[in-house]
Amino acid sequence: MQQLAYLQAMDIAVWVRRTQPKPVLSVQAVTEPLPAPMPAPSVAPAPAPAADLPDWEQGPPAYLDEIPLEQMLLDTRVPLFAGPEVDESDFLDSPPDPKLLRAQQIAQLDWSELAARVVACRDCELHRGRTQTVFGTGDAQADWLIVGEAPGQEEDRLGEPFVGRAGQLLNAMLQAIGLPRSSVYIANTVKCRPPANRNPLPEEMACCGPFLARQIALVQPKLILVIGKVAAQQVLGASGALNALRGQTHRYAATSTPVVVTYHPAYLLRRPQDKAKAWADLQYAQQVYAQQAGISRL
Ligand code: SF4
Repeated sequence: MQQLAYLQAMDIAVWVRRTQPKPVLSVQAVTEPLPAPMPAPSVAPAPAPAADLPDWEQGPPAYLDEIPLEQMLLDTRVPLFAGPEVDESDFLDSPPDPKLLRAQQIAQLDWSELAARVVACRDCELHRGRTQTVFGTGDAQADWLIVGEAPGQEEDRLGEPFVGRAGQLLNAMLQAIGLPRSSVYIANTVKCRPPANRNPLPEEMACCGPFLARQIALVQPKLILVIGKVAAQQVLGASGALNALRGQTHRYAATSTPVVVTYHPAYLLRRPQDKAKAWADLQYAQQVYAQQAGISRL
């Protein structure tokens, strides 16, 4: 009976043989006589359990009627309660993934909170070499969002993306399709300048990614123009050559926003013969945008 009292204290359900009166699981029950059994109620027997109910809702299996209650309690092979299977690890407190938690926090920020978070950010090694963070610039409700790679020397100095010669060329390219710089939003995959203008490392882009993702979510552009291979890798998760990514409409996974890929203006400054291809990319982007925005003629 001690086991019975223990199980009762633990609030553990115990199946009782149908042919015996239900034992009273208390110390008092050992010393006091059992009350006279109640007359059997004149109600119809309970219906047989439905065949499609899970085993644990159909009551104790019949073979348990053959096992004395005391043995049932002592024999650990007999299930006292056969409930749905649960994984023991479900009850263990696993700490939340800090990266996921950080991304979820960033995804809740408004513009001013996001900008402040970036300014204060030291979450990857790139913060060591920066003069200042380069957040992004332009129309916060733009239809076109331009994503570049990383701040260079001039961007790091001025705190604005795409300044200097590459920036001037980008401005001219946008102007050629009727988009003044102020009418688009421009951001980079990472907000701090990599040392010696090297490409940002995958772990640096992954760390800074939630900031860009939040910028995209806040702007809600109709088209994302990705500039250069590194930015394409970050926005699309694509690892192919830039040429293989040009001339087609990709989708930004989180929002299904159309994405068009073209050359980085810094590359075009080194290979001006590819400017014609970049021009074709911009015209293609215009068509994709028009389709997305429901515009028949630009
Ligand atoms: S690159 Fe991004 S994640 Fe890294 S320190 Fe700068 S703002 Fe933070």
